Amino acid sequence: KYYEPLRVGFQSANSGGKIPLGLKSKSLRIVVTGGAGFVGSHLVDRLIARGDSVIVVDNFFTGRKENVMHHFKNPRFELIRHDVVEPLLLEVDQIYHLACPASPVHYKHNPVKTIKTNVVGTLNMLGLAKRVGARFLLTSTSEVYGDPLQHPQVETYWGNVNPIGVRSCYDEGKRTAETLTMDYHRGAGVEVRIARIFNTYGPRMCIDDGRVVSNFVAQALRKEPMTVYGDGKQTRSFQFVSDLVEGLMRLMEGEHVGPFNLGNPGEFTMLELAQVVQETIDPNARIEFRPNTEDDPHKRKPDITKAKDLLGWEPKISLHQGLPMMVSDFRQRVFGDHKEEGT
Ligand code: NAD
Ligand code: UDP
Ligand code: UDP
Repeated sequence: KYYEPLRVGFQSANSGGKIPLGLKSKSLRIVVTGGAGFVGSHLVDRLIARGDSVIVVDNFFTGRKENVMHHFKNPRFELIRHDVVEPLLLEVDQIYHLACPASPVHYKHNPVKTIKTNVVGTLNMLGLAKRVGARFLLTSTSEVYGDPLQHPQVETYWGNVNPIGVRSCYDEGKRTAETLTMDYHRGAGVEVRIARIFNTYGPRMCIDDGRVVSNFVAQALRKEPMTVYGDGKQTRSFQFVSDLVEGLMRLMEGEHVGPFNLGNPGEFTMLELAQVVQETIDPNARIEFRPNTEDDPHKRKPDITKAKDLLGWEPKISLHQGLPMMVSDFRQRVFGDHKEEGT
């Protein structure tokens, strides 16, 4: 180790990780890149509640201060406006590296920036982890499987990815981020964890981020037709955000590198999803078909046997249970009541 991290009063992230969640006696110093975003802000809530000190690093490309401002008065919370493509010096025990736009609309907006975030951003955070001896967790994606030829997807599947397509900045970017993560692990002994996250939804998603659940919910609330792309028979598996956050924390605290699929195996066609939204919001909500986007994966469903066996994790909240929790948050924001959850 080049640097002895400041651990006075902190339990080392590298001390075996065998202490169950919530039973740690000392708090950790944790960086969450992308912590002002949808998933990151929920993770920050859990870490702060557990008693840790959290530094959020975010450039606010898709994240919002509103997602974390309920922590502003907490001395254990810090927010840094910073782009992970630039180097960053901090002293911490753990790094949850989430910074990267996740919605196809956002990541295709500036594809070169997306790939720089995934490659240079991840390199910088791994360099930081190496320098201070911190444990590093990468939030990779089910998109590393591309348009999968194996169903459901197991972690050992290498994927079917177009290297020159419009989604490549994201899925090839994440594949390279995984490669970098493993090379820092093998080459520099950095303690790493890799999560492959499947489609996740919940409160605080950007309302108009173009992802299917946020689109359908906002459209149904505004009495606009739900836009189904293609024939609507393509499938996705939707996970509620609290299940994901639990999985990420178990992965970080556990002793396995991964990669681990973190997702809800409940698989729905887009037409079935539209039906669940109708049942939850408005039985009269209409559907409108639109041409599909390029390279859209036909199906996606995680095999979560590995996470069940090694992390003791599985999702608890079904789409029918989770959607109403997202709808009440969206209702407040769509109808102009700007009171944010938690403030
Ligand atoms: P999000 O867009 O809400 O959050 C991403 C956050 O990263 C935002 O706050 C954004 O401002 C920040 N960010 C983006 N580029 C940055 C940069 N260069 N420097 C600093 N900050 C930057 O997305 P999310 O859904 O919360 O996703 C979080 C992570 O999980 C991402 O890495 C994403 O690839 C991964 N993931 C999410 C899903 C999902 O369904 N939500 C699925 C698979 C993987
Ligand atoms: N880095 C960083 N913060 C640190 C240490 C490194 O942002 O605390 C960046 C550094 O600028 C470099 C990258 O991480 O671009 C990789 O660092 P590493 O030390 O692994 O490689 P090197 O600097 O030798 O190329
Ligand atoms: N989709 C849709 N209507 C929308 C947005 C998306 O039918 O308004 C479809 C999209 O074509 C894809 C699926 O929903 O098949 C999931 O898209 P999303 O952008 O949410 O995530 P992805 O899994 O593609 O990253």
